[in-house]
Amino acid sequence: DPVNFVKFYHYIIDRFEMTIEQGITFVRELPDEAIYVAVDQDKITQVLDNIISNAIKYSPEGGTITFSIEQHTHEIVVSIKDQGMGIPKSNLSKIFERFYRVDKARTRKLGGTGLGLAIAKEIIEAHDGRIWAESKEGVGTSIYFTLPIESENDEEWE
Ligand code: ATP
Ligand code: MG
Repeated sequence: DPVNFVKFYHYIIDRFEMTIEQGITFVRELPDEAIYVAVDQDKITQVLDNIISNAIKYSPEGGTITFSIEQHTHEIVVSIKDQGMGIPKSNLSKIFERFYRVDKARTRKLGGTGLGLAIAKEIIEAHDGRIWAESKEGVGTSIYFTLPIESENDEEWE
């Protein structure tokens, strides 16, 4: 069913913001207007929970996490950007594979199974969206995903 994705995203970010420590700052670049998107809320919650916990988990030195939504004609682009340790270029294409974890020694102490992003990819593709990452070692990581939007969002058709 169509949900107001802006409100839904705020709600999920709020939930994390109440629990963060380590001096991480959350920045929201979200539109004021509602954007209706047909999603399975439980599934997309699972996707966002993993991406946001990664951003927090792999940001040992704190920094800012920026949340945004960009609206296009047929889709929205949702992003989560962190200023954490980043991912080496040679590993970037593999992070959506099952059980893949960058540098096992580095990430062992942080826990996890390496399934989070593989599950996220399955869920996003089941919604006819795409998911990808951009990253620079020592600078940070951005995760993007798209979701197709309802034509009712397009005012020209009303
Ligand atoms: P799980 O999500 O199953 O608890 P995980 O977080 O290790 O375990 P994924 O979420 O699938 O697994 O991420 C895969 C790997 O990609 C991680 O182990 C980590 O090496 C790397 N990674 C993911 N997100 C980030 C990020 N924001 N910054 C740096 N590295 C990341
Ligand atoms: Mg994870």
